[in-house]
Amino acid sequence: MSHSPLVHALGSATHAYEQPTGGWFLNNAGWVTGSESTLVVDTLATEARTAALLAAVRAESGHDGAQLMAAITHWHGDHAHGANQIHDAGGTTVTTGHSAAMIAAGPHLFEQVFAFDGWGDVTPPKIDFVVSEPTTYDLGGVTVDLLPVPWVAHTEGDLVVHVPSDGVLFTGDLVFVGVVPLVMAGTAAGWIQALDWLPTLEHRHLVPGHGPMQGADSTAIADLREYLSWLLDVTAVDSPDFAALDAQARERWAAWSEHERHAVNLIKTHADQHGRVADVPTMAMAMLKPFGGPIKLDI
Ligand SMILES: [Zn+2]
Repeated sequence: MSHSPLVHALGSATHAYEQPTGGWFLNNAGWVTGSESTLVVDTLATEARTAALLAAVRAESGHDGAQLMAAITHWHGDHAHGANQIHDAGGTTVTTGHSAAMIAAGPHLFEQVFAFDGWGDVTPPKIDFVVSEPTTYDLGGVTVDLLPVPWVAHTEGDLVVHVPSDGVLFTGDLVFVGVVPLVMAGTAAGWIQALDWLPTLEHRHLVPGHGPMQGADSTAIADLREYLSWLLDVTAVDSPDFAALDAQARERWAAWSEHERHAVNLIKTHADQHGRVADVPTMAMAMLKPFGGPIKLDI
């Protein structure tokens, strides 16, 4: 593996597992440990990456087997692919209903879009528990709140994990930092609504789905909100100049990686605002155009 993750201790019970910023399928994860069990928040894209994450979880927590539970923030493969390893080890899995259905229909490798043969065993895990409303888990001396987003935001069925005692908020892909967010499976309008809700969950540490850890002074939510609002503004007209807007976004958000996502985000948001269904092959082609073929993954 060419990219080394960082482990951050956030409070007495919570750890974040930060992968490098930028690059498809390089997400963050983490875990919360009580006296009886450990909740792992998200897994990683490949068998090998998840194995490394779980080795860190086991070493730090001393928990294994049935003491492990995976909470999957949404169905995207970077977050969900490794959960079968927790299930196979005797642990359990929990996510929202739509995410569970999408995970069961996976693994989602998007082979037309990504050139990669290093996934390893990413067999979809059995999902043991589905949450449809705020649910508190007691891990032994520490509680975590699993908070489903009841509307479509980054995806349908996003889940946020809040650890009130450590002031930690795992946002899943509701927050991207330093990386262009991907609206393809969600809506900009619903996502903004979720961003307006996140600050009401008291936190000192925010663990984004992608990008570096954030503290209380973070502007990540405001920055992302500004981008999503721009998408809504510029696609409100019937026939926007997509190429010009794509160029404008690349310049304005030059510091963010994965610029190819602007094209998809513009098409999807335009379709959403005009009551149309965005055609997935069209979105995929727009995204691949700069590459002249599938995106080669380096994970
Ligand atoms: Zn995602």
